[in-house]
Amino acid sequence: MFDFNVRIGGYKRSFGCRVTENGCIVLDESLDVAGYPKIKVKKKTIRLNRYVYEGAYGQIFKNMVVRHICDNPSCINPAHLLMGTIADNVADRVEGERSAVGENNGRAKLKEQNVRFIKKNNTLTVTQLAKMFSVSRKNVRLIKDGKIWRKIGTSKARDKAATGAASQIHEKVGL
Ligand SMILES: [Zn+2]
Repeated sequence: MFDFNVRIGGYKRSFGCRVTENGCIVLDESLDVAGYPKIKVKKKTIRLNRYVYEGAYGQIFKNMVVRHICDNPSCINPAHLLMGTIADNVADRVEGERSAVGENNGRAKLKEQNVRFIKKNNTLTVTQLAKMFSVSRKNVRLIKDGKIWRKIGTSKARDKAATGAASQIHEKVGL
């Protein structure tokens, strides 16, 4: 168990989480009927993963949902969250059921998105990051020091990628 910090409305809140072997950061409490961790903010009940997503990557566009690449609704690992349409989300679920027994299931691999998260994150320790992505602490240090995955995470490249992704999403939902 460790405390995972999430910024909500300008305040930092801590949630007691555990890390699974897939690198999922899961909450075992306050789950809604669908298995998503929920919190109350100003009398409204909201899924925690939306705050985590926005804290890590920025605003969620209108009509978009936060998807889990790990198929684990109780997971709030930012590296496992992805913005998508409701249709994408349904497709994820079908795909997930199909591959649940296949070799795709489990084993976290480091993706660009993960590396970017490691570089950007200042609140989690090296040990926590290593646990989160199922990699060694040495690996996390090398990433942070820019010794490996060098090309990822220069701010210009990131901005460009983010802008590209945003315009694609805008096209998709017709904004
Ligand atoms: Zn996960």
